[in-house]
Amino acid sequence: MNQALYDVTVIGGGPAGATAAADLARQGLQVLLVDRGGRIKPCGGAIPPRLLSEFDVPESLLAARVSEARMVSPANRHVDMEVLGGYVGMVDRAEFDEWLRQRAAALGARRLTGTFVGVDRDPARPGELTVTLTTDGQEHSVRSRLLIGADGAQSRVAELCIPQRRARKFVYAYHEVVQVSEAMRGGDAGSRCEVWYQGDISPDFYGWVFPHGSTASIGVGTARRGFSLRQATMELRSRSGLLDAPLVRREGAPIPIKPLARWDNGRDVVLAGDAAGVVAPASGEGIYYAMLGGRLAADAAAATLQTADCRQLAMARRRFMRAHGRVFWVLGMMQYFWYASDRRREGFVKMCRDPDVQRLTWDAYLHKRLSRRDPLAHLRVFFKDIKQLLIGPAPS
Ligand SMILES: Cc1cc2nc3c(=O)[nH]c(=O)nc-3n(C[C@H](O)[C@H](O)[C@H](O)COP(=O)(O)OP(=O)(O)OC[C@H]3O[C@@H](n4cnc5c(N)ncnc54)[C@H](O)[C@@H]3O)c2cc1C
Repeated sequence: MNQALYDVTVIGGGPAGATAAADLARQGLQVLLVDRGGRIKPCGGAIPPRLLSEFDVPESLLAARVSEARMVSPANRHVDMEVLGGYVGMVDRAEFDEWLRQRAAALGARRLTGTFVGVDRDPARPGELTVTLTTDGQEHSVRSRLLIGADGAQSRVAELCIPQRRARKFVYAYHEVVQVSEAMRGGDAGSRCEVWYQGDISPDFYGWVFPHGSTASIGVGTARRGFSLRQATMELRSRSGLLDAPLVRREGAPIPIKPLARWDNGRDVVLAGDAAGVVAPASGEGIYYAMLGGRLAADAAAATLQTADCRQLAMARRRFMRAHGRVFWVLGMMQYFWYASDRRREGFVKMCRDPDVQRLTWDAYLHKRLSRRDPLAHLRVFFKDIKQLLIGPAPS
């Protein structure tokens, strides 16, 4: 048994856990960062540039910068939306996540490759947890005052420590990473991402083609069980001209699209990132929100240790929802209405031509807020929304 007593043990070394561990170590706390390792996180890798400045991540980690998004409708009409006032960054998760973990270690967190198994409390040691892990098939335990569960969408920490009253909501996503030659990329393709809104590609979400320099991520998501993600991805490869691109790897994972009602157990455990259910509906964007969730969980843990007041743990969720709850709600409504049928998807893509829609979309993505600068634009978009919903898209 390891006799060290950690202030915080973080389970999961993805963007959420690595950020939490780095922030805690920076404050001089004793941190253990546990990740089971051995797998690259399936992910399109799209991030807003704001993430780089807010979390002090170097631009050199970007595999590509996207300056335009092509939205493709069920009738194969497309709208090219220039990224106004910025760009969308693309990261490769193997490199990006490892960089974040190494930074946490450089700041003083201890890294351990192992799998979280469970947690116990010994009445003889109040204010302390016994965390059971397996490393190389061997079970052992570590002592810790607090636990952060950043172990992804199927979080074992959440399952064991913070049971929820409602079932979790997921979109199941799958992608193929393919090699793209100069000829395949041609023209602007290296700096343009594609978002496909076609019912046979995804009946309730979307398909994507994201450029990553010499590779591309092509994938689809859906909440519908039984839908063949692989077949749809093959179809998307065909439609986007990448059928013959050599496969590098293929992988899938669930994306949680509803923040859990509780992120902490009111005592010694708090969740962050996918474990807490925080991926933006409609877009599936989770990396930025995971890092923010990791930071807020770290703040809440540090405040709990400092004040010995476990109620501080609830601050992580409260602060997150105060900042982003409204955006999540709007995106949830958008997904519910606009992704429901090909007729609505056609209307949605058509609406993307609107300069107001483009400005508000990029403002929300790049700055992570609903713009208040132009209330009239919101009003105009609202009435166009209603018109599209009631009478459908006008022929173009
Ligand atoms: C196909 C796909 C495409 C996506 N595309 C995008 C995109 O383009 N942009 C975007 O912003 N988001 C995207 N997302 C969402 C994004 O990947 C996640 O929201 C983000 O990775 C969440 O970070 P996290 O740190 O919370 O969890 P994760 O990145 O899942 O990290 C969890 C970590 O916990 C570890 N772990 C799990 N269980 C245990 C255990 N029992 N013991 C020890 N360690 C454990 C895992 O090894 C992993 O390293 C996509 C998701 C999918 C599935």
